[in-house]
Amino acid sequence: GEESSPTKKQVSDHGVKVASHYNRLQEVGLAVRSQSRIFFMRNFNNWLKSVLIGEILEQVRGAGSRQISVLDLGCGKGGDLLKWRRGGISHLVCADMAAVSVEQCQIRYEEMKRKSFVNEKIFTAQFIAADCAKDELSEKLDDPELMFDICSCQFVYHYSFETEQKANMMLRNACERLKPGGFFIGTTPDAYELVKRLEASDSLSFGNKVFKVSFQSKGSYPLFGCQYHFSLEDVVNVPEFLVYFPLFEHMAKRYNMRLVLKQRFSEFFEAKVKKDNHRSLMMKMMALEPFPCEDGGQQATESPEDYCHAQEYCSKSGVKTPVGTLSRSEWEAASIYLVFVFQKMS
Ligand code: SAM
Repeated sequence: GEESSPTKKQVSDHGVKVASHYNRLQEVGLAVRSQSRIFFMRNFNNWLKSVLIGEILEQVRGAGSRQISVLDLGCGKGGDLLKWRRGGISHLVCADMAAVSVEQCQIRYEEMKRKSFVNEKIFTAQFIAADCAKDELSEKLDDPELMFDICSCQFVYHYSFETEQKANMMLRNACERLKPGGFFIGTTPDAYELVKRLEASDSLSFGNKVFKVSFQSKGSYPLFGCQYHFSLEDVVNVPEFLVYFPLFEHMAKRYNMRLVLKQRFSEFFEAKVKKDNHRSLMMKMMALEPFPCEDGGQQATESPEDYCHAQEYCSKSGVKTPVGTLSRSEWEAASIYLVFVFQKMS
């Protein structure tokens, strides 16, 4: 649209690639998605994000916040809108460099509002199409005084590790408008895990029928711009960058951020699934019956044998399987990621 073109012009080559990639994903129809092998993995990722978001909201409320404001940095099509609704927040700012995704996110939000219950108070929202590794978000806020309780950056931060400048700008956008005690939460691939698997492979790539990660070289890994390609089911094939976590943690100190949690997905799963409420949510979200995904699609019911592999793989590697519904291939992909929580010191 007219509004988003100035922002689009400012994005770099890599930015253009990422944005056009995600914009293009819009065109993938429901029929195609419902056959996807990665529906269970997406449900698992959604469960994990729900638990993370739910727990952080609990902490924010526990600290006395009533009107909760959230920044969803790299919101995509709005896959987390329902989580924010469930969490009863007051205001949400959604930002993403893929203008079409932001538009779709806004449409979903309007729809959600229209279909809400009579007495339900849905949060207010602002939608921003911008390259958050380049532009200063605070200049684009409707309310220039707005401060956030939470910044949520789900499966996004690694795109910014192309250069120090970009990684820093993204971090700045995530943290500078956080209230004291506020949280910066997210999910990103674990560079140690990626490099470990690369080093164990006899080529420059590794993966399975679900995902593939390819590097251009191995042996040395620059702190920024260490590019690899990640493709999921041959769909997502977009350059990403290793995030060397100790550096990330160090950079975050500039914004007065203290790391409070860093866990691989498998560890997070292990820790959380023990809690009854999380387990029952997991059962619901991973149920073998078609369960509507947040993006309106339906989970596919694949051959049951495929999902049995998960049990076997996870018991061998000492990880309990997510109720036996993630295939081994999906689990191998999901277990690349980690969860992080930073808190702003007062
Ligand atoms: N957070 C959403 C979720 O969890 O479903 C979407 C995740 S998707 C894997 C990654 C998103 O990051 C894409 O929508 C992409 O456009 C966005 N993104 C990547 N680099 C960005 C940047 N520099 N500024 C804003 N958004 C960016």
